Amino acid sequence: TSTVLWLRRDLRLRDHPALLAAAEEAGGSGVLPLFVLDPALLGPAGPTRTAWLFRSLRAWSASADGALVVRSGEPEDVVRQVAREVGAEHVHVTADAGPYGRARDERVEAALSGDGVGLVRTGTPYAIGPGTVVKGDGTPFQVFTPFSKAWTAHGHPEPATSPPADLRWVRRVDGEGVPDDPEEFTRADLRLPDVGEEAALHRWEAFQDRLDDYDTDRERPDRDGTSQLSAHLKYGEVHPRTLLADLAASRHSGTKGGQTFRTELIWREFYADVLWHRPDSAREYYRPQLAGMRFDDPARGDGKAHLEAWQAGRTGYPFVDAGMRQLLTEGWVHNRVRMVVASFLVKDLHLEWQLGARHFMRWLRDGDLSSNNHGWQWTAGSGTDAAPFFRVFNPVSQGEKFDPSGDYVRRYVPELRHLPGKAAHSPWDYAGGYDHGYPQRIVDHKAEREEALARYAAVRS
Ligand code: FAD
Repeated sequence: TSTVLWLRRDLRLRDHPALLAAAEEAGGSGVLPLFVLDPALLGPAGPTRTAWLFRSLRAWSASADGALVVRSGEPEDVVRQVAREVGAEHVHVTADAGPYGRARDERVEAALSGDGVGLVRTGTPYAIGPGTVVKGDGTPFQVFTPFSKAWTAHGHPEPATSPPADLRWVRRVDGEGVPDDPEEFTRADLRLPDVGEEAALHRWEAFQDRLDDYDTDRERPDRDGTSQLSAHLKYGEVHPRTLLADLAASRHSGTKGGQTFRTELIWREFYADVLWHRPDSAREYYRPQLAGMRFDDPARGDGKAHLEAWQAGRTGYPFVDAGMRQLLTEGWVHNRVRMVVASFLVKDLHLEWQLGARHFMRWLRDGDLSSNNHGWQWTAGSGTDAAPFFRVFNPVSQGEKFDPSGDYVRRYVPELRHLPGKAAHSPWDYAGGYDHGYPQRIVDHKAEREEALARYAAVRS
């Protein structure tokens, strides 16, 4: 018999409590690592995220003597079948905190128990498991700052120890092998950095030198000021506990940059906690007041044309278009730009946030239900700690402020490369600004801001 380690969002070897639990149970008999290509999860993921996943699986398998068994199908069928084939008594996993993952794991657990096999959950993708930190009266937090204080006071375990030196991976059953990158990924102009645990740790190490400037540079999309660890975290190539422990042990533990970075990691924990308590907030308005607001119809007329222009990065607003094109080529967008493009969809184009959230989930390599959908709700004015709806980002002045050199816009919008400096943010002000095919603005920001406020006033009263 072998013990099965069913991997999901934990594609690493270090700081991996579920792996240690599997290794301990297996003793000398070996651990069989399994990944299930689940159509329900692969369906909504676009080519960039799928390519990331496949590359991460290849990297993981290479670091485990090529032992990874990959099979496609419904998890309850595949996991049960593999457990039968190897005569496993337990299947070990890192607990999943999202609504789909929790329901799936209950189905798998029920299927396995029919064969007398147990599903053992050890650890989560978070430093503190979602649902753990609650108010004194036992109810969940709805505001970040008190959550963050309680989260800090609660404390989290140190990183888990390294896998035992005598850990043996076994590959006793057949699998399909990790698929190649999706065809759409290889055909189009899509790019990814290095993927996998080693790449994640390299990136983290290199980024620590830049933490001194993080507090200021993190607002600048034209600079490489943030860690870009989000997709590594999403797939569990590095655990946040590792980052927090390294941070605490470094000279950055007390610096502004170090503290701000820690706070960003707590935002990730907070949104996972919100989703844990309110799984409906992945789709529905967290604060229902705005659900009654009038929005445009994305299926016809202007609504349809506007949605398509936004998705393609052809709104005629340079900062918005640069972000939307970065999304399509790299699958990653700077946080400031995510906020501005999201605000533009909801408040300038009057389209519901869920349409944007879905497009982001398809294209983001770090697409994560809790961070994404609550990020969208925050911008749409309906989330926890939300920006009030009446605070509307100006897509031009945001660009001029956070991309003062215009370099970010020129990097992603070739039709504006002939405009120097800040001019790239306002081609309408320059003779020849449109000479290279850049589209005219699809809406007038000032007028749409008024329109958004009028629609808001109608639901407020
Ligand atoms: P850094 O600045 O280096 O931050 C370090 C880590 O902290 C990030 O990797 C991330 O795990 C976490 N973090 C930082 N900011 C946030 C935040 N606001 N909320 C939650 N966690 C945060 N993040 C995702 O990981 N997946 C998403 O699908 C996602 N969608 C978003 C959608 C919108 C509309 C908005 C406004 C934000 C979204 N974010 C999402 C949050 C944030 O934009 C990204 O985490 C960040 O840009 C990732 O880049 P980084 O790793 O360089 O961040």
